[in-house]
Amino acid sequence: MKYTEFEIISQYFQRNQKKDCNEIKGIGDDSALIKIPRNNVLAISTDTLVECTHFLRNISPQDLAYKTVAVNLSDLAAMGAVPKWTTLSITMPKSDSLWLEKFSTSFFNILNKYNVRLIGGDTNCGPLSITLSVFGLLKKNNALLRSNAKIGDLIYVTGTLGESAAGLFVLKRKLLIKNLNIRNYLIKKHLNPIPRVLEGIALGKIANSAIDISDGLISDLGHILNNSQCGANINLNKIPISKILTNYFKSKHYLDWALNIGEDYELCFTISKKNIKKLNLMKKNFLINFTCIGHVTPIEQGFNLFYNKKKIIFKKKGFNHFN
Ligand code: ADP
Ligand code: MG
Repeated sequence: MKYTEFEIISQYFQRNQKKDCNEIKGIGDDSALIKIPRNNVLAISTDTLVECTHFLRNISPQDLAYKTVAVNLSDLAAMGAVPKWTTLSITMPKSDSLWLEKFSTSFFNILNKYNVRLIGGDTNCGPLSITLSVFGLLKKNNALLRSNAKIGDLIYVTGTLGESAAGLFVLKRKLLIKNLNIRNYLIKKHLNPIPRVLEGIALGKIANSAIDISDGLISDLGHILNNSQCGANINLNKIPISKILTNYFKSKHYLDWALNIGEDYELCFTISKKNIKKLNLMKKNFLINFTCIGHVTPIEQGFNLFYNKKKIIFKKKGFNHFN
């Protein structure tokens, strides 16, 4: 069945959602209207996912919807913001009702999970591309700015790194894995990353700076160091790598995936030593690990990686759209 633009909006995107007292107007007018609660600031972030650049052509509508929301929420998490609202700009080659049903159901599933409301968007015909803007609230002092790392801070990452990259290589048939469970596990890590929303909000109160790892640890931590005018020493033996990767692959591979490929959407943050007790208490509320991988140094000392106590020469790679 084919729908017009307006039928697509009302049929698939104008759904009943939980009420929100700050929302004066949602979908259906020329703009949405939102009231910002006193003493809060609005965190705003946008990410676009384009076919063949950000996702493979054969991705399911469910996985595409999930990933679009997850990577956007990850940006708010890296700021320490509570996600509240989103707008969806969707461009697609045709109005395919089955595709739209699957996409929108998965989209609202993840939105509901994180209490986020869809308040507007745009619907167009063209090559498949999805742009989401997300809006969150936070107290100004809790913002995890990239520019706020301090010399002496400890550097941490959440969860484990490298599995999403392995999953991507499996999907691209560059990595052959016979064990079906492991294959599916790695693919899931790539397609369904978990945004560290609650972790980011909790870190907002105690950490100094943060970033989400989308382009590989070296590139993303590099942004914090550049913005904060600092250096760092990182112990590669401390990088959290799952048993699945250490059992099945060589360290030169999984470290490359963790350091240079990314898409793990874990958080990398820096925290002052005086707040480590608070971090250790906070950690108990979460199932994932928080691992210290190094510390922030004066800028003159540079960005140094150590492996088995030896300094490593490395090339800064990371993902760059125009490379
Ligand atoms: P306009 O022509 O003023 O841009 P539209 O016809 O594009 O308005 O949209 C009508 C209403 O539907 C607006 O409130 C808009 O935010 C919303 N909308 C359009 N596309 C989407 C979408 N994909 N998801 C959610 N809301 C949408
Ligand atoms: Mg419009």
